[in-house]
Amino acid sequence: MKGFLDSLADLKSQGHTLVGCFPLYPPLELLHSFGLTPVVLWGLRQDITRLTRSDRHLQPYACGVARCLSEFVLSQGGEFLDAIFMYNACDTLRNLPEILQSGLEQDGSSLPLFRLHIPAVPINPPSASNYLEDQIWELTKELKKFTGRSFSGPAFLNSTVLYNQQRMLIGELEHLAATGRLGFADCADIVLSAGRMPVSDHIALMEHTIRDAANRTPGEPAARIMLSGILPPPAALLDVMEQAGLMVVANDLAAMRRSYGYLPAASSDPGAYYEDLYSNHHPCTTILPSADRRLEHIMKTARENTVQGFIFVGEKFCEYEYFEIPIIAQMLAAEGVRTLELEIGIDDTLNLDAHRTRIEAFAEMLRQETGRSRRDKDAV
Ligand code: SF4
Repeated sequence: MKGFLDSLADLKSQGHTLVGCFPLYPPLELLHSFGLTPVVLWGLRQDITRLTRSDRHLQPYACGVARCLSEFVLSQGGEFLDAIFMYNACDTLRNLPEILQSGLEQDGSSLPLFRLHIPAVPINPPSASNYLEDQIWELTKELKKFTGRSFSGPAFLNSTVLYNQQRMLIGELEHLAATGRLGFADCADIVLSAGRMPVSDHIALMEHTIRDAANRTPGEPAARIMLSGILPPPAALLDVMEQAGLMVVANDLAAMRRSYGYLPAASSDPGAYYEDLYSNHHPCTTILPSADRRLEHIMKTARENTVQGFIFVGEKFCEYEYFEIPIIAQMLAAEGVRTLELEIGIDDTLNLDAHRTRIEAFAEMLRQETGRSRRDKDAV
């Protein structure tokens, strides 16, 4: 599949107006309803090989997502993007717009910037929901000015229907991976490609893949695992897991299940739609009001999928992700689920052998435990 930059070059040549959205959960439907093509700026690591420009503005102990995104916007943003969008997803990202804008100015360039502030408190009280609604309408006004189009309720409804279709198909794709009909590396690649292609093309790609994979014979895993973290690990590590007999039967990855796990009701009213989406979002460490539901959600998912191992793929320097892991590991251990913690830094993509060894050892331990529990059952 094409990389991020090649995909963007194709979209530009086809006349798309591209809005580069900072992760994690931008209001894609609203941008789409104005005829814009939102692209989500994560998964850039394979295309960004140097961080020369980013390193002038960002400390090296920022996460790889932010550093790659900054490098791209500063060095090639003007070439590919027509505007950028950001919201207060995390401390790292909320400070980037000013840094990037001043970096662009130093080079004599600029990019229009759209912003949104999502309340960091539960959205149920009227004060918070009114605030979010005002924010959405402010953004709508800016989009009207930028595109020269009026807001259209039916167009927005159509966009919400399309994005819900995408969410449902991603669910089907992940189910095929969980039953061994599709490799998880292929599944992750297709899900991540949502960030760099129009939603209708992504739907067509998934429909084609699902048709192909649906009739394959289900696989028999040596052990069933759940993956958590911001991004899936590099494909080379997913291959190691597969070769070691680990099947990803569930995930809690921000770029996958957390992004697509909740289906808001389709609506022609952006205020109501985003209140529903952000209030009931799949629990994520970066959506603070959802934090209370997160631990129980992970435990429930692990139980429902009879998970034997939990692999946390930490994004180095993403402090959000690390706080709960000791508690999650303890809770899972109490139910007999083993945890493996990995940490992927920006320089690790060419140096994965240590991770490879740890995954193989983890798989061996799970295989032995599974064999022991089968023998115990037979003995009874
Ligand atoms: S990896 Fe963590 S710190 Fe980096 S952008 Fe994502 S949420 Fe923010």
